[in-house]
Amino acid sequence: MEYEKERERLVRSLRVHNIKESVLDAILRIPRHLFIPEGLRRDAYVDTPLPIGHGQTISAPHMVAIMCDLLDLKEGQRILEIGTGSGYNAAVMAELVGKTGHIYTVERIAPLVEFAKKNLMDAGYTNVTVILEDGSGGYSEFSSYDRIIVTCAAPDIPEPLIKQLKPGGMLAIPVGDYIQQLYLVKKDSDGTVHKESKGGVVFVPLIGKYGYGYD
Ligand code: SAM
Repeated sequence: MEYEKERERLVRSLRVHNIKESVLDAILRIPRHLFIPEGLRRDAYVDTPLPIGHGQTISAPHMVAIMCDLLDLKEGQRILEIGTGSGYNAAVMAELVGKTGHIYTVERIAPLVEFAKKNLMDAGYTNVTVILEDGSGGYSEFSSYDRIIVTCAAPDIPEPLIKQLKPGGMLAIPVGDYIQQLYLVKKDSDGTVHKESKGGVVFVPLIGKYGYGYD
C-alpha cells in the first residue's frame, strides 16, 4: 500500500517531462521495488538510478519514461533492448506492447540475466525473452525489430543495429563517453536513416565488440 502511494507520487513528478499517458500508466502499474535489491527497496520510487550489483544500475524512472516516450511504443510491436540490467525497462515496454508484442532483451552479465528473469517472473511478465550475450551488435536471430533501445552508452551508433531495424523503425541510443548524447534514429520506409540528438544523458558504457572493448 505504501509502495502504491509512493508510485503515484513518482508518476505525478514525471509529468513535468511531458510524457504520454500510456507510458505513465505503465509506470503506475509496475512494482519497481521488485526490480531492486531488497536492501535498497525503500528508495524504489525515488526518481534516481540505483545500484543492482556488478557495477551496474537500474536507470532512473524519468530516463526510462523519456526513452519509452520517444520510441512511441505500440501494441503488437517487437522490441530489442540492449542492457537488460534489472529487467524494469523491459517490463515498462512489455506493458506498452501488450500480449501481442514481444520484448527481446540482451544482457552480457550472467548474474544480471538471472536477476532480471526472476524479477520479470515475480512481476508476472511472459512477453519478455532475456538473452545472455554481447548485444553491442544487436541480436540478429529475432530481427527485424520495430524499435531498438540501448540502455548503455556506445562510442558510436553500431551499424548492425540499423540493419536489424524494420523500415519505419526507431532506435534510441546514448552515444559518448563522459559527455553523452541521447540519439533518436529513424529508418524511413525507403531505408534512409535520420538521427537527432535529444540532449545530454549519463549511462554506464556499452561493453563489447561494437562498444568500448572488453573489461
Ligand atoms: N535497462 C536496465 C534496467 O531497466 O534495469 C538498466 C540497464 S543498465 C543502465 C545498463 C546495462 O547494460 C548493464 O546491465 C550492463 O551490464 C549492460 N550492458 C553493457 N554492455 C552490454 C552489451 N554489450 N550487451 C548487453 N548488455 C550490456
